[in-house]
Amino acid sequence: MNKNKNDAISKITTREENFSEWYLDVIREADLAENSPVRGSMIIKPYGYALWENIQKILDREFKKRGTQNAYFPLLIPKSFLEKEAEHVEGFAKECAVVTHHRLEEKDGKLVPAGELDEPLVIRPTSETIIYDAFSKWIHSYRDLPLIVNQWCNVIRWEMRPRLFLRTTEFLWQEGHTAHATRKEADEKTLEMLEIYRQFVEEYLAISLIKGKKTESEKFPGAEYTSTIEAMMQDGKALQSGTSHMLAQNFAKSFDVSFLDENQEKQYVWQTSWGLSTRIIGALIMSHSDDKGLVLPPRIAPIQVVVIPIWSNDDEKKSVFEEVQKIKTELEAFGITYKVDEREGRPGSKYFEWERKGVPLRIEIGPRDIQKQSVVVVERILGKKEFVSNKELSSYIEESLERIQKTLLENSRRFRLENTREVSDYEEFKKIMDEKQGFIFAHLCLDKKCEEKIKEETNASTRCIPFEDGLDNAGKCIYCKKDAPNKVLFAKAY
Ligand SMILES: [Zn+2]
Repeated sequence: MNKNKNDAISKITTREENFSEWYLDVIREADLAENSPVRGSMIIKPYGYALWENIQKILDREFKKRGTQNAYFPLLIPKSFLEKEAEHVEGFAKECAVVTHHRLEEKDGKLVPAGELDEPLVIRPTSETIIYDAFSKWIHSYRDLPLIVNQWCNVIRWEMRPRLFLRTTEFLWQEGHTAHATRKEADEKTLEMLEIYRQFVEEYLAISLIKGKKTESEKFPGAEYTSTIEAMMQDGKALQSGTSHMLAQNFAKSFDVSFLDENQEKQYVWQTSWGLSTRIIGALIMSHSDDKGLVLPPRIAPIQVVVIPIWSNDDEKKSVFEEVQKIKTELEAFGITYKVDEREGRPGSKYFEWERKGVPLRIEIGPRDIQKQSVVVVERILGKKEFVSNKELSSYIEESLERIQKTLLENSRRFRLENTREVSDYEEFKKIMDEKQGFIFAHLCLDKKCEEKIKEETNASTRCIPFEDGLDNAGKCIYCKKDAPNKVLFAKAY
């Protein structure tokens, strides 16, 4: 349903009715993003972009603490670069946007592409190739290592079934790229960065995760292995929330990224790459929001507290705004981000609007509250209303924000555990994927065919081989009953 001026209130579909409609309704009503005229491309609106800016700020700080430097590499990559690593090109070929011309010319009253390029250029779907070509020129000796570079940028992967935030042809992300002298260092870096992602997603986005390693068929094209964090959405589907790849020497050999070691002998570097994208905003929306709209964890919310002044005449307005000024000073002193909704209009419709935008706390203040030296504080998730005295306001706000943050993570964790099952019978597996969905741990052999068949028959893919204890015990493959080295996490996925 589209918002138009005659429709004062547009509806949010309930999750029960239709989960994917609900998701799009929440995005529209919270004013996060919209489709652009180019299918698959998304306009991120200011409120949605503020979320991405917060994500950037926190991750960037964590990256830099660990010796990462930011740089920027070009959008256009020579096609020949992609061809240098066979698995890599095979993995991305189907999604590449290719630039073949460099100008437009008028012909019969129409503009047509002209000036064909000698070598087509690919718009980066990821930047391993162009970055490692540069690394090969930057790295000479063991003293140049480790090299840890990150870039914040956009990439394009042509998307046939686009969906706001979750699958867009163009998306924003960061991609980290490293080069090390030893395999051990690269292995450690791979897992260190995955752990950064886990901490960030759990502590700031309040989304509970499972950490693990991708199977051979799900790993990044060109990697030796891929590690991942997987989250469960409210419909029981999985969302891959960040990945960190051990590239070993695959790219180093293709791009001649080498160095002279202490004995003056040539060695290839060991590499990693890791990325987290605007998809995570899709995960954030689907993890916490409810039928009233968006719900945001306080630590990532662009606005933690909205202040709604209430007045009915100019005198009241004056005294209420004086009081609001005091509240502002106090919230600022406590480092709490806030917005005062000073617009004319009914308080009720303002409450409604900020509720849909997922602001964790709302302060209402009117003439009667001033007399009582207190304000009303309302929580977004439970709708709980409290009268809080002015004296206690900032500590009350601080404690509430902390508590809400914790509650959201606990809810996410509980929901994931309640919808995770260990299964050894394939019929039961199929039944669960048909009805309840959620996560299933089951034994899987190393034969790729079993994995393919399961995906074909149930739509569930392998999400990871979990790092969690107690799941690496051997057993019998759920599909073919042959030996299986460990349990694998299965789910339908976004
Ligand atoms: Zn099998």
